[in-house]
Amino acid sequence: MNSIVYQIPVAQLESFRGRRLIVRTRHPSDLPAQLHVEDLHHVAYVQLYGLPDNVDALMHWAEGLPIDLLLDDPAQDFANLYRFAKLLDNHPVRVSLPVSTGFDKAVKLASSLQFEVRLQLGQPEALQIELLARLLDDYLHKATVMQPIEFFHSLLLGFCNQIPVSLWAIQEEHPALLRHVDEQGNERLPGKLASFNPNAASSAELNAELAKAPERFVAEWSRSLLAEGAECSSCGFFSVCQGYFKWPRRDYQCVGVKTLFTTLEQAGDELREDLEAAAAEANP
Ligand code: SF4
Repeated sequence: MNSIVYQIPVAQLESFRGRRLIVRTRHPSDLPAQLHVEDLHHVAYVQLYGLPDNVDALMHWAEGLPIDLLLDDPAQDFANLYRFAKLLDNHPVRVSLPVSTGFDKAVKLASSLQFEVRLQLGQPEALQIELLARLLDDYLHKATVMQPIEFFHSLLLGFCNQIPVSLWAIQEEHPALLRHVDEQGNERLPGKLASFNPNAASSAELNAELAKAPERFVAEWSRSLLAEGAECSSCGFFSVCQGYFKWPRRDYQCVGVKTLFTTLEQAGDELREDLEAAAAEANP
């Protein structure tokens, strides 16, 4: 069975009906108008982009269905978050935003409004790493941050429970799990891989593999980084990262992101020890 989730514009619904879907639109009223009740069994969540003015059509529709609110420009867009807070009465709401100018303020406001957050990471530069480190500190230590902030949340759980996790999957950018479908119905790789052109990649071997099986992208990409002896080959976080931060620029220096991984790993270890101590106390 095809377990891939297709991230489609609502205009492509007819072509993808029956598959596992994420449906996006800039017009909230399109969703109740076009998605049948039986479609909702296949919908992981819906995405709103372009900061629509009116979301009343979603207030009492498909209660419990998660809504993902996409911000393009956190510095400009964050003040608009207030008007989406009423959706929380009937839906889990997540804000997805790029790590770009103003993202830290947007995350703080989103968290205070009780939205979940997903950071679209890219290849953060030094200043952005500093801001991410401060947000991570708030996430780990401030009682006021109660909703998950991804990628922090899933990595913390992975380290705490000592279970394998993939940053590509956490970021919803793993081609074995997700495909992006454009307005014309063309399938592309998800997230930051959407612009990937196998015919223009640097390795002929990688190109051939990916043309045959795009779902193997992460395996082939990480294998090529190890084979060339890149920074990844001596990185203690390779099993969770799999070269995520080396895309698209292979020469990206990971010293900053490794400090974030280290903080999360230490916090996960401490959390596990605390839980084990509490369990031992409860069952002496
Ligand atoms: S953190 Fe950087 S060096 Fe380590 S696995 Fe990820 S991309 Fe490679």
